[in-house]
Amino acid sequence: VDGQAQRPSRSGATELLRDLIQAASPNPPGDERAAAAVIRGYLAGIPGIEIEDAGVHPARPMIVARLRGRREGPALLLNGHMDTVPAGGRWTRDPFGAEIADGRMYGRGASDMKSGLAGLVVAFARLSEMRDELAGTIELHAVPDEEPGGHLGTEALLRAGRIAGDFAVVAEPTGLSVFRAQKGNVFADITVTGRSAHGSMPSHGLNAVSLAARLVTDLEDRLGARLAERTHPLVGPRTLNVGTIAGGTATNVVPDRCVLGVDRRVLPGESPQEALAELAAFVGDRGAVAATHLGAPFETAEDHPLVVAAQAAVASVMGVPRPCGGLVGSSDARFYADGAGIPTILLGPGSMDQAHIADESVPLDEVEASVPVFIDLARRLLARR
Ligand SMILES: [Zn+2]
Repeated sequence: VDGQAQRPSRSGATELLRDLIQAASPNPPGDERAAAAVIRGYLAGIPGIEIEDAGVHPARPMIVARLRGRREGPALLLNGHMDTVPAGGRWTRDPFGAEIADGRMYGRGASDMKSGLAGLVVAFARLSEMRDELAGTIELHAVPDEEPGGHLGTEALLRAGRIAGDFAVVAEPTGLSVFRAQKGNVFADITVTGRSAHGSMPSHGLNAVSLAARLVTDLEDRLGARLAERTHPLVGPRTLNVGTIAGGTATNVVPDRCVLGVDRRVLPGESPQEALAELAAFVGDRGAVAATHLGAPFETAEDHPLVVAAQAAVASVMGVPRPCGGLVGSSDARFYADGAGIPTILLGPGSMDQAHIADESVPLDEVEASVPVFIDLARRLLARR
């Protein structure tokens, strides 16, 4: 702990981030009760904030907190996930210690995304003191279970019909740049079928592992190359990755079955269903393609009022305008953008390069700056008319 660590933070976001990192919430196994208690404790007793638990599982709380401006107006939704990936890896620091060194805080979730969550919660509390100036509603969604896909978190909120609003901000780590696009994804299993035989007489069978190996090469060489020809200015090219392969039962048996797990990333403007159909057409009779997960991409227009307001908020707090970016991976933002049809951006402190790695960290000046950015954004969107 160096000298900077002793200095109390301007907003309180640093201290809240420390408490959230120390309230470990690795997923798997998935238990966000300690992290939720930190947030509830922080918001407790603040006038004008309504809090409910929208969780769908006892160990997986989901905080929905709401504050209303003095007049009617649009609804702004703020989303952050409380879970993290497990510590894993080879840490040189305590992954749940929230150590500070050289202006950075270290710990699992420091970037992805307890820092964004801390910034949102502090901004939300501050905004409750500005209710007289606001026309509209602000809703904070502190959700569980984002890392494996949001099933017990934001997706459950969507299925319950509880995602309604005009603007959504998901505070994933973007280095405080406005990300207004996100890739979608298609995960599919390709089952290749052969015919088994004794390993001493391979010509009597049809080797499914060999067929699958040729298919992998063809997928990469021809389909992958074709996909890479189209790119998006914010999220880059379409990609294809064969992530898993499983086949055969014993060394001395000609395998009759081999399954490939394929990950195809989808650009804004493409549909996952079309991408799946394209994959199936390419594979043809060489295998049976079955989707295991479809996630929709999204893009919010550069001139949409949400993007314009967010760009202005970032420029005002950071002193210089920054170009928009896009998320190459996936996040709960798709449940707001595609699921609920709400214009959505990603905006938060920290870097995706830090997500899921050992010695994950976040620059504390960015954590602190996120608070005025979120406040400024909310005030621009909910300015009393
Ligand atoms: Zn995240």
